[in-house]
Amino acid sequence: MSNPATESAARTAPFIDVKSVTVRYDLSRTGGTLTAVEDVNLTISEGEFVTVLGPSGCGKTTVMNVIAGLVEASEGEVLVDGRRVEGPGPERAVVFQDYALLPWRSVFDNVKFGLEMQAHLKSEDWRMRVQEAIDLVGLSGFENSYPRELSGGMQQRVGLARAIVAEPRILLMDEPLGAVDALTREVMRDEIEKLITATGKTVIFITHSIEEAILLGDRIVVFKSHPGSVLEEITVDLPRPRSERGAQSDPRYLELRDHLWEVLQNEATAASRGGRAS
Ligand code: ADP
Ligand code: MG
Repeated sequence: MSNPATESAARTAPFIDVKSVTVRYDLSRTGGTLTAVEDVNLTISEGEFVTVLGPSGCGKTTVMNVIAGLVEASEGEVLVDGRRVEGPGPERAVVFQDYALLPWRSVFDNVKFGLEMQAHLKSEDWRMRVQEAIDLVGLSGFENSYPRELSGGMQQRVGLARAIVAEPRILLMDEPLGAVDALTREVMRDEIEKLITATGKTVIFITHSIEEAILLGDRIVVFKSHPGSVLEEITVDLPRPRSERGAQSDPRYLELRDHLWEVLQNEATAASRGGRAS
């Protein structure tokens, strides 16, 4: 029998723990450094869907890349399930805004790329898993197509399939719907919500859409710039599944939306003035 006390402790223990992370980039041209983010602290529980909002250039991608193990923190550290992140790992997968597909590979082979780090898999196993991931994102029948033959929405589905094929516990999604048209965006947002709530994955989802942040997130983290850090965290206490149409008439949704508009507008103004004194 499971012990409810241990279970609830496990649920509340941070699964992802971003501890005082500062990232400074070396600027080769001037020889100086740029503090992209400073003292970022963030804890995320297993199974949580966290959306991230903030003005352009405030360091959202940088923090995600530190969690992904693609960028090294200058100070601080990230723990995932208690272990320090030292580089990329199979339990974390990234979905990039610009899809980052390999143009010379078919859909099938692009998705297969997500498994190529896992040399221990037998070929019949990986074939099945690649096909399952393709089916799950609705691309059955396009296995032999090349990225250039696909719409933006379909290319992003390939990016999503490549990320989920290795069955990561954590999905890091950097404006994954930023480059697709409005209608596709809405359809994919609903599909992502279904897919992820069904699989219980932990998700960090960067977006510039306030509506998307509210409709998808269990919690919204708002970043500020100069230097980037966490400004505000808001729990989204709206029932699921959420639909844009249903939300439009929900006073709590409208209240959250207005609040976020105001916060982000203030931030954008501060950012355009060159930020605060540092
Ligand atoms: P966001 O994703 O919120 O738009 P980024 O994390 O991409 O922000 O960037 C934060 C800041 O760091 C920006 O000022 C950006 O120009 C700078 N930056 C990002 N990546 C690099 C890099 N590789 N080298 C130098 N500066 C960078
Ligand atoms: Mg970014």
